[in-house]
Amino acid sequence: MRGYGMRSIGSPAWLENPAPVCGPLDAIIRPTVIAICSSDTHILHGGFGDHKDLILGHEAIGVVTEVGSLVTRFRPGDSVVVPCSTPNWLAPAIQSTFSNAHDEGLMASFKFIGSKDGVFAERFHVNQADANLALLPAGVTPEQALMTVDMMSTGYHGVELAEIGFGDTVVVIGIGPVGLMALSGAAIRGAGRIIAVGTRKPCIEVAKKYGATDIISYKEGDIADQVIAMTKGGADKVIIAGGNQETFTQAVKMTREMGTIANINFFDHSETLGFPAMLWGVGMANKDIRGGFCPGGARRIEKLLALIQAGRVDPSLIISHKFRGFNTLPEAVELMDSKTPDLIKPIVYCDDLD
Ligand code: NDP
Ligand code: ZN
Repeated sequence: MRGYGMRSIGSPAWLENPAPVCGPLDAIIRPTVIAICSSDTHILHGGFGDHKDLILGHEAIGVVTEVGSLVTRFRPGDSVVVPCSTPNWLAPAIQSTFSNAHDEGLMASFKFIGSKDGVFAERFHVNQADANLALLPAGVTPEQALMTVDMMSTGYHGVELAEIGFGDTVVVIGIGPVGLMALSGAAIRGAGRIIAVGTRKPCIEVAKKYGATDIISYKEGDIADQVIAMTKGGADKVIIAGGNQETFTQAVKMTREMGTIANINFFDHSETLGFPAMLWGVGMANKDIRGGFCPGGARRIEKLLALIQAGRVDPSLIISHKFRGFNTLPEAVELMDSKTPDLIKPIVYCDDLD
């Protein structure tokens, strides 16, 4: 089976890997539209350890080609939305904590790439299909649905972690596709002022459409000082969706007493997170610091799809580049890797696969 991935760290390549095998609870999917993620290029460059001959990709819409004997909700021919995180719902940890991100260890629900080939393939495997797939519903385009599987699920997780309330002053640090989705979720959750941090022009345009009231740049001075000056004291909630260890310190600094810092950004494993005690009110400020990974599973995706069906958000605004044909994958991955100024999110139509 042909797929696009990495021969080894830093070496993207077309691969011929064994075709996936369908277990009794599982499904095999043919992708119809796939999206490239910054996580794919991060993994390609060794950000998640050493991988060899691994097909990349974890964001897909597709058609079911095969189901296991115990699958009841799906059959071949169904158009489905595939969450990027597909937990093993039988794992003891998931039963005791309800965590749909860390079923069998840190981020272990991230099976595509994490523990098997990803979705940049002629066919890919989904574990426990009944609990991990959603039907593509009426009133939602495949492109919109594709943006729910990671970008919206992760971005909205930032909003959940931040527990945004009516009228809160919110800062979203980073307005790539993940931060933009978080921003749209903050607006839906009733935020008042929303300050977005970023510089890429198309991202700023979409941020305004999703409800950003102010845009600031991390290239024009310390963003914590900028936020504190603009808000006369700091923000209620800060979502981190970009930046580095210094950004983390700035996020703590710009958050008011009783506020919350919600991180959905991947820090590099070589970074150290820390800050002067005064920024945390010498430990007395009741500033919550949280961080989390994209939750998965069918029900979560169905709920995100319901937001689109109800017209509350159009996540397809973040799609900046559309490629036609499975064979354009190298071009799309290369674009993601080079992060050109006009880039938000690239997608690839795979209608040529059968
Ligand atoms: P992008 O690279 O597209 O966007 C990053 C954003 O951060 C841009 O707006 C960029 O600004 C901004 N930024 C860069 N440096 C700084 C800085 N020093 N201070 C403040 N802002 C800065 O990333 P994505 O949107 O694709 O992903 C965002 C993060 O989320 C990544 O770390 C990604 O790995 C992670 N992620 C997490 C997941 C999870 O489950 N928790 C799932 C998927 C992704 P500019 O406009 O100048 O480019
Ligand atoms: Zn992703």
